[in-house]
Amino acid sequence: MGFSMSRSRIVDQFDQFAVDAPSVPVFSFSVHMELRKDPITRSWVMTGDESAEVGVRLDAPCSFCSDAHVQVIAKSPNIPGPGWSARSVVHPKPLYHIEGEPGRRGDGIYDRMHTVGAHEVLVENASHDRHLWKANDEEIGHFLRLSAERILDLKRDPRIKYVSFFKDYGKNAGQEFSHPTSQLIATTFVPRRVLYELRAGREYFIGKERCVFCDILQQEERQAQRVIEVRGDYIALGPYAPRVPYETWILPRNHDSSFERTGLNKPGLRINLAALLRRTLQRIRSVTEDFHLVLHTSPSSLHPSKNLGYWKTIDDDYHWHIEILPVVPAKAKSYTFKEVYYSPVTSETAVRQLRDAKIDG
Ligand SMILES: [Zn+2]
Ligand SMILES: [Zn+2]
Ligand SMILES: [Zn+2]
Repeated sequence: MGFSMSRSRIVDQFDQFAVDAPSVPVFSFSVHMELRKDPITRSWVMTGDESAEVGVRLDAPCSFCSDAHVQVIAKSPNIPGPGWSARSVVHPKPLYHIEGEPGRRGDGIYDRMHTVGAHEVLVENASHDRHLWKANDEEIGHFLRLSAERILDLKRDPRIKYVSFFKDYGKNAGQEFSHPTSQLIATTFVPRRVLYELRAGREYFIGKERCVFCDILQQEERQAQRVIEVRGDYIALGPYAPRVPYETWILPRNHDSSFERTGLNKPGLRINLAALLRRTLQRIRSVTEDFHLVLHTSPSSLHPSKNLGYWKTIDDDYHWHIEILPVVPAKAKSYTFKEVYYSPVTSETAVRQLRDAKIDG
């Protein structure tokens, strides 16, 4: 499949790499992009005929280092003057646009809608080379709080069903900017991977009246085979059934469905999470530079949809987490066999290696 003409992309901040993994990320979608729903899997796909491609230009002058050419939405700490640690700006080539209505409509048995939503760049730091694994915990805390504030703010929009952030780092992961950045996307639908998790969480809860993530945590902490590190109220672990080698999850140890509520209210927690995130990324970087990171949090419950039952128990059966999927070049075939994930390193082995990795601070 060529990348220059038609392109379709399953809209999941994480599974997109499993669909096609172009070494040159392309975000120059024209206004002709639209969302179409696969009637079988119920996954939304962004598709359209692209006009021109603009490859990643990591050597271009950095627009995030200066105030020129960026449209600032919010910053943290929220103090007057130029001082800031993290800030959110409008994405220069947004995949989703805030204006208009989704205009969801039928097309025979199919469904389609406009790419209404929001797409922001979360600038993690004012310094061009202070990546999350080099920044101090205070700075990372500011980034986490800003992310939480942006999610809460966008969730107030009745059109928006889901908001989250992700980070692609390294040229094999589709990194877009050289400045330390993550990206925030707000959509009028729940992306498929999160939808699968929500449905599974609800089913488990119906049977057991417990959160599946809490049960996983209980067993993992007891067995201690796949636990990378515990930091206060947070834990980093390798999942039992990893999709890629060294896949790592970071979760709150106590039940909590929504990152944005925790992230905002408890500064002590935020610092623990910042430290765990920084140290976990250092460990992963002892294996590979390139990784995808995504936050999975509960969808907007301010404007619940009538036909989606999972909103009723969502605070009990969903549990927010951060997923990190390293891109290990030598194991690239794992990405091509996407019908069944193939990970040639077990989490037990990966976790032993990550635990022993040399990290500073
Ligand atoms: Zn910069
Ligand atoms: Zn839970
Ligand atoms: Zn998840």
